[in-house]
Amino acid sequence: MNRAYILLGTNLGDKMDNLQESISLIEKSLIVIISKSSVYETAAWGNTNQDNFYNQVIEVNTELSATDLLKTLLQIETQMGRVRNQKWEARIIDLDILYFNHEIIDTENLKVPHPYLHVRRFTLAPLVQIAPEFLHPVFNKTNTVLLENCSDNSEVKLVVT
Ligand code: ADP
Ligand code: MG
Repeated sequence: MNRAYILLGTNLGDKMDNLQESISLIEKSLIVIISKSSVYETAAWGNTNQDNFYNQVIEVNTELSATDLLKTLLQIETQMGRVRNQKWEARIIDLDILYFNHEIIDTENLKVPHPYLHVRRFTLAPLVQIAPEFLHPVFNKTNTVLLENCSDNSEVKLVVT
């Protein structure tokens, strides 16, 4: 059994609905959700003239390989109507693998731990809420320590507890 952490992000349409719909589609695939963080709101990164993002992190168990987990998540994004045009454009749903066990994966299509995990407060804040002691396999630091050391000072607001 594999344990993975997935970051959900959305800044288009009914964001709370989008998070819920992606969670119910994840639950209908070969993925078992173990815990969910609260929902957090952050200003858009990179492309700042966009609507704010809602983000949430979930912890899952799955027998799927990392590659098949990614495939499943990309299928759910497509099923929810996500169209990929420009980098960092507004999106209905973005599903990123943050960790897959403590594995380090560096292929063209999949990089785990997620390469921006440690530099983004909107990722670390929900991650610390549900996995404070989980060790980042590259830095050998807990999520709590990564958040303490994170120099991203964007405001990350709690939406729902
Ligand atoms: P981003 O999430 O960086 O804003 P996209 O969601 O458009 O960009 O993803 C583009 C590609 O990133 C995906 O097709 C996938 O192959 C690749 N990718 C690499 N590592 C990961 C990861 N850890 N989680 C999700 N996608 C990843
Ligand atoms: Mg993505």
